[in-house]
Amino acid sequence: MKAIAWVDGSLIPPEEARVPLEDRGFLFGESAYEAMLVRNGRAFSLELHLSRLERSAEGARIVPARFMNRVRDAVKALLQASEGGDALLYLQVTGGSGPREHLPAGDGHSPGVYGTLRPFDHVVLRENQRRGLRAILRQDRRWPNATWKTTQLLGNLLGKREAAAAGAEEVLLHDADGALLEGGSTSLFVVCGGVAITTPTTRNILPGITRSLLLEHASDRVREADIDIRFLAASDEVFVASTTRPVMGVIEIDGRKVGNGKPGPVTQELARRFGELMAAAWGE
Ligand code: PLP
Repeated sequence: MKAIAWVDGSLIPPEEARVPLEDRGFLFGESAYEAMLVRNGRAFSLELHLSRLERSAEGARIVPARFMNRVRDAVKALLQASEGGDALLYLQVTGGSGPREHLPAGDGHSPGVYGTLRPFDHVVLRENQRRGLRAILRQDRRWPNATWKTTQLLGNLLGKREAAAAGAEEVLLHDADGALLEGGSTSLFVVCGGVAITTPTTRNILPGITRSLLLEHASDRVREADIDIRFLAASDEVFVASTTRPVMGVIEIDGRKVGNGKPGPVTQELARRFGELMAAAWGE
């Protein structure tokens, strides 16, 4: 399977794909996106991702009725192009393109619909899950609408760059009052007494789909509650979760070991259970 892009209703090589200079996603960040894993020609939790895309776009005032048919066409074409292989399907919708005016005239432009499909390596994912990742802790610098999956990601990137500079792979964000929120591109879970606690979506976090599936399918082990930053020191395990990192142990925070410095038993159990959920959805 080769990487491929979807622009203007056609599949083309990603290196040939172009976004118009005056696309409002490029000019103003007026843009929402999704990413999902693909195998056997099926996208995992497709409908949950498409509903969230609609909600994020509505937040950015991009009207779903004006793009959802084209998004479904893009998904269909990209799934076909996946040839049954393992891939990451990325979708982005923007406010469309036209002369640079903060508010476009009339109904605005026809939304831009873009997508890519790239091979995804589950062997590397499993190795990373076995090893776990290092993280740093930082105060959240994002805008208050992180609950929409838009491309306003500079606050996330700055934290991730600081993590990389510290030899870590993720930044864990807390708010000004010391409430833990989420990772730079992951939901956050803190394990204590065999239960994994994750921040409620009433806070400024993205309602992660992996997170919601863990809450639904592993309700014996996963609950929502506010988490004070001081709680981290007393935790047995910490893990993050996202589409591309479905349950990944955090083994070190700001240079200090979490537990014994290895992904813990609850993290391992939930990684296994989530893997089974994905396999079942893919008909395995
Ligand atoms: N939180 C943030 C900030 C993210 O960017 C992501 C995914 O990219 C997540 C959480 C996890 O969301 P999901 O499980 O839907 O991939």
